[in-house]
Amino acid sequence: MTTLHLAGFPRIGAKRELKFLLESYWKHDIDETALLQGARELRQRHWLLQKGAGVALSPVGDFSLYDHVLDAQILVGAIPSRFGFDAATLTTARYFELARGNHQQPALEMTKWFDTNYHYLVPEWEANTRFSPNPAPLLAQLAEARALGIKAKPVLVGPLTLLWLGKTKGGDFDRLSLLPALLACYAELLGALAQQGVEWVQLDEPALALDLPAAWLAAYAPAYETLSGAPLKVLLSTYFGSVAEHAALLKALPVAGLHLDLARAPEQLATFAEAWPAGKILSAGVVDGRNVWRHDLSASLDKLEPLCAALGDNLWLSASCSLLHSPFDLAAETSLDADVRPWLAFAVQKLNELKLLQRGLTQGRASIANELVGSDFARDQRRASPRIHKPAVLQRLASLPADADQRHSPFAERIAAQQAWLNLPLLPTTSIGSFPQTAAIRKARAAFKQDELTPAAYEQAMREEIELAIRRQEALDIDVLVHGEAERNDMVEYFGEQLDGFIFTRFGWVQSYGSRCVKPPIIYGDVARPQPMTVGWAVYAQSLTDRPVKGMLTGPVTILQWSFVRDDLPRREVCRQIALALNEEVLDLENAGIRVIQIDEPAIREGLPLKTSQQADYLAWAGEAFRLTSWKVDDATQIHTHMCYSEFGDILPQIAALDADVITIETSRSDMELLRDFGRFSYPNDIGPGVYDIHSPRIPSEAEISRLLEKALEVIPARRLWVNPDCGLKTRQWPEVEAALTAMVSVAKKLRTQLESAVS
Ligand code: GLN
Ligand code: ZN
Repeated sequence: MTTLHLAGFPRIGAKRELKFLLESYWKHDIDETALLQGARELRQRHWLLQKGAGVALSPVGDFSLYDHVLDAQILVGAIPSRFGFDAATLTTARYFELARGNHQQPALEMTKWFDTNYHYLVPEWEANTRFSPNPAPLLAQLAEARALGIKAKPVLVGPLTLLWLGKTKGGDFDRLSLLPALLACYAELLGALAQQGVEWVQLDEPALALDLPAAWLAAYAPAYETLSGAPLKVLLSTYFGSVAEHAALLKALPVAGLHLDLARAPEQLATFAEAWPAGKILSAGVVDGRNVWRHDLSASLDKLEPLCAALGDNLWLSASCSLLHSPFDLAAETSLDADVRPWLAFAVQKLNELKLLQRGLTQGRASIANELVGSDFARDQRRASPRIHKPAVLQRLASLPADADQRHSPFAERIAAQQAWLNLPLLPTTSIGSFPQTAAIRKARAAFKQDELTPAAYEQAMREEIELAIRRQEALDIDVLVHGEAERNDMVEYFGEQLDGFIFTRFGWVQSYGSRCVKPPIIYGDVARPQPMTVGWAVYAQSLTDRPVKGMLTGPVTILQWSFVRDDLPRREVCRQIALALNEEVLDLENAGIRVIQIDEPAIREGLPLKTSQQADYLAWAGEAFRLTSWKVDDATQIHTHMCYSEFGDILPQIAALDADVITIETSRSDMELLRDFGRFSYPNDIGPGVYDIHSPRIPSEAEISRLLEKALEVIPARRLWVNPDCGLKTRQWPEVEAALTAMVSVAKKLRTQLESAVS
């Protein structure tokens, strides 16, 4: 019989219970006992859900109070030495200090878990890092599971992936040199699990889906040889991409089973199924753990049946990866669009899909006849639905001229045409878009959404905020103003709510990091813009001032990247549709007299595929989509873009190819390091490196802003340089903002005078 197993469940809980537990604990509203009790109840509930779905091997160790990669560091007794903590005796309070920092030490750095929106805490490897097994927390959870009658399979980050994900600290050394010591530790951990009677352990090696250096790949065989001594069975798990190029290596590894992500990379199955080693388990990750779409049971059975015939009990079934990345339960969505709802499946539904597949495989399709009819019906209805397919959108895209992603003239001519009416001084000042989202703004929006405030009253409230923002910017003497984004709760949601083809859930949260969750919109159909989305606000703002007001849009790549995207159309096509809708908005803004327009693309870097071989293609279509937003735009209209969060050093040519007239970027946290790359590459258009970090309430001194700008002037010609903060200011308070911007403008003016007198 085909075994059903799971790699992980959304630990945050159906109602984000973990978030609220954590935040209450941090605020000292509940004590440690209550926190740990709440966490235990969540684990128990999730295991019982799995049991109900017939999961034969449930994950243990997938739950974490903050992050499973942090837990893995503790498990191997290797937490950064700078904290001076001992992993074996780590208290809950200190656990959170690692995750969130304390008075002496900043938190562990956070970065994205492969190409997901989940952030893990980055291990810090030092030349003298020592490992020592610390299995107690894991064993305690194992005991909890067993007490419920759950057959548990501990799930651990694999040793090579764990090493790979960390960064080296304190001098240059090869972190791979830590592998032998780490393996000795893993061997002891496996031994401890075996002693508890654990039969299966899952070691996650998603690093195999990257382009690992040869030395790392070569380390896999000896590493797993070392671990094969433990008296238990290892399931080596890969996900987030194809590992077909390592098929020979993986088939030969001395492990009892291998898991493949067949949602992300279905094509790799053929390579593995052929001459699959006798007696080895092949775990087919068929149900997509990363998306929200209902599984096509029939299509899946078509693939699985021959596999099952060939492998028998050695075929296992699972989701493609941990369900951590999936929202919890569709049943909670009581007011979701009734047409779209049958096309969706969240974690609880995915469990059920797995159960049905298993039953269909072992007892025949007749045993799930009704469910197959339901699945086929939903699939067919989705394929044909007029809710999804808008011929007009496809026609418009098909009839785009070949140069739709090009401005009329080259940058040099455009900037001259822009400067002719903008008349900006040297080192023009601006901001990134948002101003503080005050309690009053949030209250007004909430009241409006709950029909407690009429549209007219809401509009009036927002207009007052806009006016306030304009007056304050004028008083600060900023050159290019913004309206402040008071009306936006979120830079993607605001647009998604107004575009056709998007729906929003009420509880479709997924963990981003720690207690933080995001609720991505779902793009289910062709994207179109029924009416202008931002024009009214921008025009009102412009009516209040003689200075130019910058229109503010979220770019197509960022909207795509921060949504759950339909799986029946290539991402690039969805992105083009969004771009075309945004282009209509850009043209409407321009028509209405808004002739500086910023199109934010903070997420462009994070959409980069894991495999180098696919990156050029992505960057090409992402760039094309961005440029498409400015189709037909007049030369004299100035297009800005903004990016943050990541290193761009490696994709500068592609960023230059976006051909925005002005780019503002986050640089202050890296002390303008990034700017050196821009200088070396001699970035051709205007550029505004952020001159202070908006992520902290700290008010920058004129001296430090001045120092950063002088550094910038070393690599950027003065007439190309803009002066602005790092990012939007929505999380800040007005007094901080006013103080910081006062300093910023003052420095810009002083430098400007110096530069001008140097010229004359
Ligand atoms: N215009 C947005 C803002 O200012 C940009 C946010 C971002 O870069 N993430 O809030
Ligand atoms: Zn930003």
